[in-house]
Amino acid sequence: MKRVGIVGGGPGGLMSAYFLEKLCDSPFEITLFEMSDRLGGKIITPCFKSVPLQYEAGAAEFYDYAHFGEDPLKELIAELGLSISPMGGSAVIMNGQILTNAEDIREHLGQNTYQELRAFDQRARNIMIPDEFYHSDHPEGSPDQVNNIPFNVLLSEIQDESAQNYVETLIHSDLATEPSLTNVAYGLQNYLMNDVDYMLLYGIVGGNEQLPRELAARIHATFRMEHRVCRIGKVDQKYRIESEFHGQNSTELFDAVIVALPHNKVPSVIFEGDSLSSAVQEHQEQFNFPAHYLRITILFEKPFWRSRLTDSFWMLDQFGGCCLYDESMRQPGGEHGILGWLLGGDTALKMSEWEDDRLIQAALDSLPEFLQEGRQDFLEGAVHRWPASVNGMPGGGVQWNHDRRHLPEPVNHPHLFFVGDYLFDSTLNGVLDSAHYVASWIATHLYEHH
Ligand SMILES: Cc1cc2nc3c(=O)[nH]c(=O)nc-3n(C[C@H](O)[C@H](O)[C@H](O)COP(=O)(O)OP(=O)(O)OC[C@H]3O[C@@H](n4cnc5c(N)ncnc54)[C@H](O)[C@@H]3O)c2cc1C
Repeated sequence: MKRVGIVGGGPGGLMSAYFLEKLCDSPFEITLFEMSDRLGGKIITPCFKSVPLQYEAGAAEFYDYAHFGEDPLKELIAELGLSISPMGGSAVIMNGQILTNAEDIREHLGQNTYQELRAFDQRARNIMIPDEFYHSDHPEGSPDQVNNIPFNVLLSEIQDESAQNYVETLIHSDLATEPSLTNVAYGLQNYLMNDVDYMLLYGIVGGNEQLPRELAARIHATFRMEHRVCRIGKVDQKYRIESEFHGQNSTELFDAVIVALPHNKVPSVIFEGDSLSSAVQEHQEQFNFPAHYLRITILFEKPFWRSRLTDSFWMLDQFGGCCLYDESMRQPGGEHGILGWLLGGDTALKMSEWEDDRLIQAALDSLPEFLQEGRQDFLEGAVHRWPASVNGMPGGGVQWNHDRRHLPEPVNHPHLFFVGDYLFDSTLNGVLDSAHYVASWIATHLYEHH
C-alpha cells in the first residue's frame, strides 16, 4: 500500500485528498497533517458571541465561471450536495454618494470623469477579453505585455483624479495589495471581475465553511490534527515528515508528499538537503508577493442601510478602498444586520497592529454620513487579521509552466509536490486547479518504478 502525506488541512489539502481518492485506482492511504484544531484554513464561518448568527471571516465568495463552459469548483460544490446563492453588488460609495450606474457617475463626478472611466473600461476589455481572463493563470494564457508591466503604470494613464480614485476604490480590496506591487494582468483580472461578461459570484447557503466540512466528511484519510509539520526530507526512496504535537515530535514515511500550505507558511517548514532546500527557496522567491487582508465584522440590531443599499456588498472609498459585505443577506429573514468590512493591501497590514476596539471604532467612523445614525444599533464587533496570507501576483512575474510550479525539485524529489492558490490566481478556483493537477499526477505515476 502506497502512502501519501498531505501537509495542511485547508481547502488545498482537502481537495488534494478528495481528488486523489477519486482519481487513483490503485490502493493507497492518505495521512493529512493540520497544525490547528480545525480543518478549512481560510474558509471560516464563525458565529457572534451574543447572538448565534454566522458571518464569513475569511473567503467571502466563490467565482462563477460556468458561462465559459466549465467550472470545476461549482461542479464540486454541487457534487457535495451544497446549495448556492448568487451574490452581487454594483454600488461604489464615493464622497458620501452612492454611485450605481453611469448616470450617478455623471451626476456626482462629472462628465469628464465619466468619459475617462469609459475609456479605461474599454481599454481594459481590449487588453483582456473574457477568454483571456478565464485562462489568465495559464502560462500561455496572458500575453507578456500584461505580465511585465506594473499595474500602477496602466492606472496612471487615467488623467482624471476622481476616475483613478474610483477604479482604485473598486478593486483595492480584491487586489489585497498596492497597484505598484502587482502587474497589469492581475490588476485587470480584479477590475474585470466586476463585469458580468467576465465573472459572476455566489456563496454557499448556510456558510462557506460547509465546503471544507463536506470534503472532510468524504475523505478516508487519517487526520493528524494539531500536528504542525516542521521538517520534510528524504530517506532512501521515501519522504519523511516530522511533525510536532503538543511539544512531542514524531516522524512518518511516505511515498509521496503534497505540501498544501499558503506561500507565507512554507518557510515555517525545514526542507532537508541542499538540492531540496535551494529548490524550495527558489520556489518561494518566484511567488514572493505577500498581500494582506483585514476583516472587521459588526452585528447591529437591524440592517439600517437596507432602505438605501440592497446588494450583497458595496465598495467604499475608505481605507484606500474597501468592500463592505451585507453579511446578513446570507441569512435572509433575520431581524439583525451584519456588516463586514474587507480591507486590503498596505492599510490592512498597518491596521492589523491595532487593538480590536480601535478597529471597530474605525469601521463605524468610516460609514458614510447618511448611515451614521446606524451606529446606535451596534451590538458586537469581531476582527480577523490576515497579514501576508494571500498573494498579490499569483503565478509570479515571469510565468513558469505548471509542472515547475508544482514540483520544485523533480530530479531527486519527484514525488514532493506543492499545491496552492498562489500558483494560479489567489482564489479557491485556483487552489482547486492546483490540487487537481497534483492529484492527477500522483494517480497516474505513483505506481510507476523510478
Ligand atoms: C480575508 C480573505 C478573503 C478571501 N476571499 C476569497 C474569496 O472571496 N474567494 C476566493 O476564492 N478566495 C478567497 N480567499 C482566498 C482563499 O481563502 C484561499 O484561496 C484558500 O483558503 C487557500 O487554501 P489553502 O489550503 O491553500 O490555504 P489555507 O486556507 O491557508 O489552509 C492552509 C492550512 O494549513 C495549515 N498549516 C499551516 N502551516 C502548517 C504546518 N506547518 N503544518 C500543518 N498544517 C499547517 C493551516 O492551519 C491551514 O489550515 C480569501 C482569503 C482571505 C484571507
